[in-house]
Amino acid sequence: MEDEDAEEMTHCHLCIHGHFYQPPRADPFTGRIPREPDAAPYANWNERVTAECYAPLAEAGHFGCISFNLGGTLARWLDRSAHVTYERIVAAERGYWQTNGIGNGLAQPVHHTILPLARRRDKICQVRWGVASFAHRFGHRPEGVWLPEMAVDYETLEVLAAEGIRFTILSGEQVRGDLTQGAGPYRVSLPGGGDITIFVRDRDLSNALSFVMPDLAHVDEWLQEQIERRCRRGGLLLIATDGETFGHHHRQGVEVLGHILSAADNHGYRLTTPELYLRRNPPQAEVEVIENTAWSCAHRLDRWAVGCGCTSGDSRWKGALRRALDNLACDLDGVYVREARRLGLDPWPLRDDYIAVVLARMDGPTFLAEHGLSHLGDEETQRLLALLEAQFHRQRMYVSCTFFFDDLDRHEPRYAIANSARALALTRCATGDDLSHGFRRDLRVAVSERTGRTAADIYDEVLEHAKI
Ligand SMILES: [Zn+2]
Repeated sequence: MEDEDAEEMTHCHLCIHGHFYQPPRADPFTGRIPREPDAAPYANWNERVTAECYAPLAEAGHFGCISFNLGGTLARWLDRSAHVTYERIVAAERGYWQTNGIGNGLAQPVHHTILPLARRRDKICQVRWGVASFAHRFGHRPEGVWLPEMAVDYETLEVLAAEGIRFTILSGEQVRGDLTQGAGPYRVSLPGGGDITIFVRDRDLSNALSFVMPDLAHVDEWLQEQIERRCRRGGLLLIATDGETFGHHHRQGVEVLGHILSAADNHGYRLTTPELYLRRNPPQAEVEVIENTAWSCAHRLDRWAVGCGCTSGDSRWKGALRRALDNLACDLDGVYVREARRLGLDPWPLRDDYIAVVLARMDGPTFLAEHGLSHLGDEETQRLLALLEAQFHRQRMYVSCTFFFDDLDRHEPRYAIANSARALALTRCATGDDLSHGFRRDLRVAVSERTGRTAADIYDEVLEHAKI
């Protein structure tokens, strides 16, 4: 056993992690995805990326050989609209778990929220919803959680640890300390006590695959140059990238990944996953995390908070829109808390558990009955369920892509505003509280430089479209 352990430590291991994700696309009022002409010849981008990436990767069996996370909105869509592919992905993870006694899938906060920008109870909600969704789909709890955009602060890590999560993945530039052990794992001490494990992806190596992927004829040369050279020090090499790199961003990606997965013996590495590697190699060193950083923008969290130089033009709309959403969230929470307390309920654990209804594990009345609320009359039941549904849409307002691009007057911010409108409509219907006046006031501050339209104009357009 000792010999085996020694060999394990000196041998070079390679892990490829794919972050598979699509933002929510369905209209929050109709549940339907509008036709997306730029995805032609497919009806929308989900269908197109499935054909180019998810389906061929699943068919090739690659989900059983890599580490991956499957975003909640994408998993839900695949389940309904590309079920064979969905089943193959789930079966691959379950198979890995049965073989190794440990999974190769990571959970993801359901709405891909930039967690350091969220208040603590929303961090908890997003993580709990993500863990519950993972367990629902894959049949076991996850050991790791993928942080949206790898955005990190210590409070987020504390929430992960408190939920029993053992590790997450960060990028080299987000970590301070001695990184001579490559991808780690490393221990991070938490301010409130305790610790969590992090794996550190090799940014240059990840980018060498994501942005300058070799063609199939040159993968062996690429492996010699990029992997064998780094392998000399042993330990773990970690590539973490968008899953769509394989087949969607690069047409040859599915075959290239297949070759990397099958050429391990020829190039002197062993394939592994964070879960498997951690079991045999507990953290030896400790590092610090550089808070409020992310993997896709070098300007801390500015891209999603106030705007940064990564996008062109005037991005002041980002701060203004975020303020409008934050004020609205506060108002929506006020109504929900008032109604929950009136019924003698603790509002936040109830909201955290509501994911069971979202996942259709049970219907609303059954959910309330399981929480000891079967005595509620019809009217109170409907009111509480409507406010919980409003909380779901209030969470979805914060999907990260809302703030990712340059302009306010495009699909992603409109989607956040549409979810706000849905939360407002549900709340007004449930309790008569009309919170729209203050929201429209705040939205007027956010202006598109390109079209001159304000977020309030977009809100009115949403209402017109939804005929509210
Ligand atoms: Zn930036």
